[in-house]
Amino acid sequence: MPPAVILPIDPQHPDRRLLVRAGAVIRSGGLVAFPTETVYGLGANAFDDHAIASLYKAKRRDARDPLIVHLASASGLPRVATDIPEALGHLTTRFWPGPLTIVARRHPDVPGRVSANRPTVAVRVPAHPVARGLIEASGVPVVAPSANRFMRSSATRASHVVADLGEVIDLILDGGPTEIGLESTVVATDDDGSVRVLRPGAIPVEAIVVALRDAGIDVPVHVGAVQRVASNDGELSPGLLETHYAPRATLVLVSGAPASSVRLMVQLLHDAIAAGERPGLIVYDEDADSLIDPRMPHRVTISHVGSVASPETIAHNLFASFRDLDAAGVTRIVARTIDAVTTMPGRPPIPGGFGLARAIDDRLIRAAGSRVHLTGSMK
Ligand code: AMP
Ligand code: MG
Repeated sequence: MPPAVILPIDPQHPDRRLLVRAGAVIRSGGLVAFPTETVYGLGANAFDDHAIASLYKAKRRDARDPLIVHLASASGLPRVATDIPEALGHLTTRFWPGPLTIVARRHPDVPGRVSANRPTVAVRVPAHPVARGLIEASGVPVVAPSANRFMRSSATRASHVVADLGEVIDLILDGGPTEIGLESTVVATDDDGSVRVLRPGAIPVEAIVVALRDAGIDVPVHVGAVQRVASNDGELSPGLLETHYAPRATLVLVSGAPASSVRLMVQLLHDAIAAGERPGLIVYDEDADSLIDPRMPHRVTISHVGSVASPETIAHNLFASFRDLDAAGVTRIVARTIDAVTTMPGRPPIPGGFGLARAIDDRLIRAAGSRVHLTGSMK
């Protein structure tokens, strides 16, 4: 097929004619990449089984990894999901439009393929004017997984979409870099009615806890561990797979107190050079002085992603940093988590921390797979 048509579009005040044109492509079964406030999505008509099959094929996405259905407004929810638990219903009124995804019972009109034949479906209403305008113009709910090849880091710039999918999709709406840079927070309910955060993301877990408490909804909120182990059996939530969001280069991650982490990072860089790798470094502003010393070999490619005091900045830059380091030919990337992680024997590390920092560390851990070094020192 011919390469994707790329249409620049104003992210705040999108030209309606462009949205109508892109909406027509979706309605007729095509694939359109577009910016959301989190990352770029690859859109297809959620009611068109054939289009969804072609979306999985384009992304080379594992057929067991379910998609998120995107709506122009919450009023469309009954068309795609039923039996919304009160707690999740409240969270939608509080956080939609925005980067919160709820998982509820799938409406029979939604093809099973959308959710890898689960009885449930994931749904969100994005806040980005281009995303909302496109879904509205399509006249149908739109499935939109991140617009990258499966297992790779999510696309946060149109150029990332072109690099991964430019030859296999119809249209790319280029609305510039996405603002948040990390995916939505995915929430579901357990059988006992408690809320479970399946994927930490752009809406902090703490904000969910506060929203429920303020509404007088008295349910526990669980995060992480149990689900992550379950996900490794291929159930529940494949976005929680241990290796995901990864750069092409091997990511080696350090976790612990900043000072000891930095020391270990320097050591790992030297190891990488000794092993003949082309090393890259992801640097937080706070670490720059101790990490980038004048004796450091020129061969180290450095990517500055911002200050730990501004996790929003790091989130915004993280996936682009992975891709920039890949493009520079780096083969091994060294980085550290923002907060310390907790570990249990035989289980993958679990991010601690608050707010966006937790989501950033979650992505770093998954991108690193099993290559997480704990410094063991909190000094
Ligand atoms: P993506 O759209 O690529 O950011 O990934 C969507 C992720 O949402 C999946 O990988 C799952 O982790 C999660 N998800 C989607 N649908 C469901 C569902 N029905 N049940 C549980 N998790 C889901
Ligand atoms: Mg994805």
